[in-house]
Amino acid sequence: MVITNGLGLPQPFVDAVTSEYRYKPKRYSVTSVLNGTREVILQRRHADEITSDVSDMVWMIFGTAVHSVLEHSRETDTQLKENWVSMEMPNGYTLSGIFDLYDDATGTVTDWKTASVWKVIMDDWDDYRKQTLMYCCILRSMGFDARRGEIVALLKDHSKSKAEHDRSYPQHPVYRIGWDFTDDDVADMMAWLERRFEEIEEAEKLPDDELPLCTDEERWHRPDKWALMKRGRKSAVKLYDDELTARKACESNGKGFFVEHRHGEDVKCEKYCSACAFCDYYRMKML
Ligand code: SF4
Repeated sequence: MVITNGLGLPQPFVDAVTSEYRYKPKRYSVTSVLNGTREVILQRRHADEITSDVSDMVWMIFGTAVHSVLEHSRETDTQLKENWVSMEMPNGYTLSGIFDLYDDATGTVTDWKTASVWKVIMDDWDDYRKQTLMYCCILRSMGFDARRGEIVALLKDHSKSKAEHDRSYPQHPVYRIGWDFTDDDVADMMAWLERRFEEIEEAEKLPDDELPLCTDEERWHRPDKWALMKRGRKSAVKLYDDELTARKACESNGKGFFVEHRHGEDVKCEKYCSACAFCDYYRMKML
């Protein structure tokens, strides 16, 4: 990745986001296999051309700093900390990753995350659940009895005053959540990983523009909406998923109401995909 420093931030900031890491052929990380195939492959193919500015990477520094502080703790006799682990897949590819903590006494893999309060508000833990389940699969392949995943999330945008006034808002700037995994959960994940690596192997043979398009979920797609609006009011009276229903509602409300089309968006493509410059879908959408 080419790092730029548009704001002229001090060199330690640049050093903190500069990595010597080089992608290894046929090896994919626990976090990368959860992203769209197109995104993952474009990131690897164009790693030396992708540009990012230090100012856009400060949350990465924050996350690294948190890990750096916590990794200095002393583990107990049953704990393993910050270990790089890997598992061979049937097609010769490798799944790898570094978990933050594993306690063999409870069979629990724990990861620290720096996250937004929205993760808690939306109860949106599927990606983190899958990550810890993947670590359990890898640890089981190594002979450990891993059977639980846990996330300790530090909520970087937590507001104490909002917590005081709204009991439904996360009450603390740290949030803990966990899952007990059954043998079936592990078997399902192993089957999913097998299919996932086969997809990746096939996709690696394709040119950029023929890579399978990231799914709606992988693009964080928000669909079109039709808003029932009332003259003189800025916010929508109600949002509808289809135009016909919105128009019928508008007619039944009578004069003073109208329908406004709100175009959907691919939030990941537009704001968070580092490979977007090499993706023809993104280029076509931006034209
Ligand atoms: S721009 Fe969107 S569709 Fe293209 S690789 Fe990135 S996430 Fe996938």
